[in-house]
Amino acid sequence: MNQYYESTRDASITLSPAQAILQGLSNDGGLFVVSDLNERQIDMQSIVNKDYYEIAEEVFALFLPDFTKEEIRACVQAAYKGKFSNEEVTPLVKLSDGYVLELFNGPTSAFKDVGLQMLPQLTKTALKKTNADYDVLILTATSGDTGKAALEGFKDVDHVKIMVFYPNDGVSKVQEMQMKTQEGKNVKVCAIEGNFDDAQSGIKKLFVDDAFKAELAKQNIKLSSANSINIGRLLPQMVYYFYAYASLVKSGEILLGEKINFVVPTGNFGNILAGYYAKQVGLPVHQLVCASNDNNVLYDFIQTGVYDRKRDFLKTISPSMDILISSNLERLLFYTSGCDHAYIKEIMNELARDGKYKVREDVLANIQKEFKAGFATNEQTAKTIRDIYEKDNYLLDPHTAVAYKVLLDDVDTQHKNVVLSTASPYKFTNSVYEALHGTTSDDEFVLMEKLHEETRVPIPTNLVDLDKKEVLHEDVIDKTEMEAYVLDKVGTI
Ligand SMILES: *Cc1c(COP(=O)(O)O)cnc(C)c1O
Repeated sequence: MNQYYESTRDASITLSPAQAILQGLSNDGGLFVVSDLNERQIDMQSIVNKDYYEIAEEVFALFLPDFTKEEIRACVQAAYKGKFSNEEVTPLVKLSDGYVLELFNGPTSAFKDVGLQMLPQLTKTALKKTNADYDVLILTATSGDTGKAALEGFKDVDHVKIMVFYPNDGVSKVQEMQMKTQEGKNVKVCAIEGNFDDAQSGIKKLFVDDAFKAELAKQNIKLSSANSINIGRLLPQMVYYFYAYASLVKSGEILLGEKINFVVPTGNFGNILAGYYAKQVGLPVHQLVCASNDNNVLYDFIQTGVYDRKRDFLKTISPSMDILISSNLERLLFYTSGCDHAYIKEIMNELARDGKYKVREDVLANIQKEFKAGFATNEQTAKTIRDIYEKDNYLLDPHTAVAYKVLLDDVDTQHKNVVLSTASPYKFTNSVYEALHGTTSDDEFVLMEKLHEETRVPIPTNLVDLDKKEVLHEDVIDKTEMEAYVLDKVGTI
């Protein structure tokens, strides 16, 4: 097994796993990957009798050869034991048309917790392993869920500072309050006048800005990213694909070796990419279904091979998927092009320059072999929430409903279908309530109570009384002011 990670854009840039976790993004703008992905294999026979923690240990051992077994075990325990409200961590629920894999039982009620409870543990361990004598500054752009989950994971972690930027008016009231009330002595939260892509592009620019990094270096600080481009987030997300499969085998729903489908509500392409990784290392997957909302740039791409971000950015009722540049797609392009670094560099430059690119025929064919795509409009999403509540007495959040709608459009009856559920319905109470009852002008926190009385679905503890918590962060800046803001504030946390 190759001991190193390399940049998708340059084979000569290589780092150990611990270094790759600390750095997040490669200096040339590329993403860290292993080039021997499908030479690594998980033994499915052994997986099916393991619990979530044990499966996690197997997956991490395969990708973090510089971590000891003991280190990995300690990270997994610290990340998940007692942190998720369900003992199974990510339980699988059977509905009439498929299974729902609940990824939202963590401390902030979104699937991001799975990656962002683990990343701080890996970061801490990596700092120790590399004898680091500096502090790490995590800069994160969020469309709502990443920010809170990152803050919660990294708060008060020694030698780490974290700053989160979110689009003003681009997140739900609940998400906004979750971030504005964040506690911790090493955290900073700031709204940007712009959309998510503006926030993400702003941060990506800082990561390749040598003058900016030199300024930070004077204060003995190095940059890192908690966005889903960090391998320390990608790897934890592989675990629940294996866990879902093991659950189906254990409960007799499938036989070991039988292939299944996963339908994934997709934005930055991190969640579904983890499914692709899982498949490459041995998980029996038939198809990965990429579900988009009205921002269906990925749907068009998977149909045609043309990635074109030059379109209107639409605000939808599934805001965590309102994204036009899906960063993790670069890793898929890397593998489906036969690990062609020069090619990846070329098309990513094209994307930066022209806002679009068209992939080679062989790359498109490879992608279409593994992926199917679909999308759902706001109306279809709302109708799905209503329909499934009536049919199965199960409350979907809007992101999960997008995926569920895509499943229902074209149910593959030859295989079992697992829909990944990425948020608690209470995180998007307004949209869920309106889906059931039509428009309402009530406050989102009043609706939370109403929804609870009506459905008896428990409100996650972290969201109870959130509106009564003290607001600690109120900064709002223009998207052009991010660099100045970071340099100005970094010394205060
Ligand atoms: C982040 C997020 C997604 C999209 O996941 P990606 O890994 O960015 O594709 C979907 N749903 C919810 C609720 C999310 O928070």
